[in-house]
Amino acid sequence: MSKWQGFTSKIIHHDRQQGYADGPIHAPVYNSVPYGYATTKDLEDVFQGNKTGHAYARQSTPTTDSLQSMLTQAEGGLGSLVFATGMAALSAVFFSLLKSGDHLIASRFLFGNSHSLLTTLENFGIEVSLVDATSVANVRAVQQENTRIVFVETIANPGTQVVDLAAIGDWCEQNKLVYLVDNTLTSPYLFNPKSVKASLIMNSLSKYFCGHGTVLGGAITDTGLYDWSQYPNIFDSYRKGDAKKWALTQIKKKALRDMGGTLSSDAAFQISVGAETMALRMDRACSNAFALATMLNAHEKVAQVYYPGLSSHPQHQKAEKWFKRFGAILSFDLKPGYDCATLLDSIDIVINATHLGDNRTLALPMASTIFYEMGPQNRAAAGISEQMIRCSIGIEDADDLVNGFQHGLDTLAKTL
Ligand SMILES: *Cc1c(COP(=O)(O)O)cnc(C)c1O
Repeated sequence: MSKWQGFTSKIIHHDRQQGYADGPIHAPVYNSVPYGYATTKDLEDVFQGNKTGHAYARQSTPTTDSLQSMLTQAEGGLGSLVFATGMAALSAVFFSLLKSGDHLIASRFLFGNSHSLLTTLENFGIEVSLVDATSVANVRAVQQENTRIVFVETIANPGTQVVDLAAIGDWCEQNKLVYLVDNTLTSPYLFNPKSVKASLIMNSLSKYFCGHGTVLGGAITDTGLYDWSQYPNIFDSYRKGDAKKWALTQIKKKALRDMGGTLSSDAAFQISVGAETMALRMDRACSNAFALATMLNAHEKVAQVYYPGLSSHPQHQKAEKWFKRFGAILSFDLKPGYDCATLLDSIDIVINATHLGDNRTLALPMASTIFYEMGPQNRAAAGISEQMIRCSIGIEDADDLVNGFQHGLDTLAKTL
């Protein structure tokens, strides 16, 4: 464990004891695919897991190992694995730890592609229940004898719902269920899912973790809290040694090695550099989001603001208790008669783009883009208003951002 307590000190200095050859202070980028050994016996030991080492870059390189060590420090976990994208990381967990006939409970408020992935799992014979996880009672109500995993996100996008993180963690612990928490929107800086008893933490590194919108990556961290000797789906060949490590071994072998959603060393390097400023960027983006949410909340042309930092948010108190700050995603509904596209086009500082966690502020209307395919009825059922705009707040100077939105709204004319 690190001798430093602060978040940034820990992640910046995570590899100080490593001693890279020739003394670089950044982990070097190893682009070799195979790794050679002095003797056949050495290679055999690596293959058989008797010695640590690298054999083939689909499973690991010293550069991806270094990023994994940073993640483990950031989340206070037992160990981590990195993948080509956040979706590859989630797929890795589901396809290596679940099997046909199992049951998964997931929050109804999920990233769209994660939701879509769950429908694929159903084709493989895995039952999925989607529930309003803002209350643990709804999660409890759908438990089955074959339930294995409970999957939630910290702050949902675009509605910013905060699920009942701590109560679900307690319930999973009592029922020996694996608790998988997608920490992407909070990042390890704002929230440590281990504090609510998560078993596995997923982070999309493409978002705040790297932060610059220039590279994709994903990660799974095992918090060390789950006793995998209780879990029925661990293959016999991985039921060896410390039971706490069985899941990571199985995910590494069955998903990373066999399915191959591998992060390149080049990408791992970029992510490690980006992550060094995670806390600085998050502080700034969260302050900006708070300032903007406060202004929008008071504006006569805005019907509703969705931001956990506002005291009117249904889970404001929980968010305040669990998260260091309230995140940098905010959504709002324009009042009827005002056009979302006209507003966004009038605000110079905003870029019309999907994605989140960039240094730039990105925004888009929801009904006509991400939720267009759904149609108006399903949108209404999912709580997506026809007038909703989602903003991923960047690190611009607060005045430029707030004034930009204020001016755009003040000059916005009714179109209907
Ligand atoms: C973006 C995102 C993902 C997927 O991550 P990628 O790296 O884009 O594959 C998963 N969960 C959440 C909450 C996200 O925002």
